[in-house]
Amino acid sequence: MTSYLIKGARIPSTGSDHRPGEEHADVLVQEGRVALDGDWDESDHEVVDASGLILLPGLVDLHTHLREPGREDAETVLTGTQAAAMGGFTAVHAMANTDPVADTAGVVEQVWRLGREAGYCDVYPVGAVTVGLAGRQLAELGAMADSAARVRVFSDDGHCVDDAVLMRRALEYVKAFDGVVAQHAQEPRLTENAQMNEGELSGRLGLGGWPAVAEEAVIARDCLLAAHVGSRLHVCHVSTAGSVELIRQAKASGWNVTAEVTPHHLLLTDDLAASYDPIYKVNPPLRTAADTEALRAGLADGTIDVVATDHAPHPHEDKDCEWAAAAFGMLGLETALSVVQETMVDPGLLSWSEVAERMSYAPARIGRVADHGRPIEDGAPANIVLYDPSGRRVVEASESVSLSRNTPYAGMELPGRVVATFLHGRPTVLDGKLC
Ligand SMILES: [Zn+2]
Repeated sequence: MTSYLIKGARIPSTGSDHRPGEEHADVLVQEGRVALDGDWDESDHEVVDASGLILLPGLVDLHTHLREPGREDAETVLTGTQAAAMGGFTAVHAMANTDPVADTAGVVEQVWRLGREAGYCDVYPVGAVTVGLAGRQLAELGAMADSAARVRVFSDDGHCVDDAVLMRRALEYVKAFDGVVAQHAQEPRLTENAQMNEGELSGRLGLGGWPAVAEEAVIARDCLLAAHVGSRLHVCHVSTAGSVELIRQAKASGWNVTAEVTPHHLLLTDDLAASYDPIYKVNPPLRTAADTEALRAGLADGTIDVVATDHAPHPHEDKDCEWAAAAFGMLGLETALSVVQETMVDPGLLSWSEVAERMSYAPARIGRVADHGRPIEDGAPANIVLYDPSGRRVVEASESVSLSRNTPYAGMELPGRVVATFLHGRPTVLDGKLC
């Protein structure tokens, strides 16, 4: 196994404190581990010049749609984890809304195994909460937790577990194996025929409205349920200012609630729907500038724990149609770090050590993932990413390694680029190219 000597990278201080301290260090990647500040001979190793680059722990995504099994025309475990590696990720949680649904030990083990065979990211399958995502009976949560895939995150994502009794039972059940229920908060009756954020604009465009209260009502109920049964709740893709406030209150009450925000909800707003271009159609929908502002503030002060991509590939024919008929969702893995730099780091809302917390340490903690989300220190697993924050580039949809092309950032200029990603000491990306 080749060893790599990474020379002169900036390593943000570890921990979640606000110390701006950064050190420049040489890091040796050898036998799947990192070593710091040794007296190494350059001729013994492959040298990577990292001057001006930032070395971060490998990113961990709590919310990825890999589409396999069932929609291999949109994405496969291989292509999805390749896109993840290009974005600096070393671990992804694969959502359960595949075909067949990941609601049994057999399906989660299949996805887990495909991830190992592909070798670009560690894949942690998310188990469905209910059989077939149908919201009627609990899936085999215990069997999925005991399987080789060791499932700890359960979600019906794409659907809301709206039955309060089922949600309560799921929250109670996952306590047995320290699991977490990740809720897609969407009150179904309030969002029938919903197409975009409900507001003056949805009325003018004649598109069905998706009101903020449909998200907030479910979050409020779930926080109360999680507190009542003493379990862990994770809120997927928080999109409104009111949701941020509810989660802030839940945390202040000492309840075990965590939350994520997507890159697109940090950057994009609902006025983009005026183009009627379905590339901007996503669930939950893009919201107002005031919501975006509240999401950034919530991510900065730690109310929102995590940035998760909700990477949702769709083939051309599912997006290249009129708005109402188009599928919900957009790509996110390859651009996540650049969007976070643009919206959070460059404006001074997050330091790079806080980016490591929100995109690596915290998601690994929530997903109970052991080998990822670790500070870069002697002996730690070599799951790391080298990032160049200088310069800006125009995003080209054709350059994506995803099987799909539905990026909302095509033609937009974003900062930074991933230079290299290492998974267990092996490069998955070098010189900005897939290995
Ligand atoms: Zn969702």
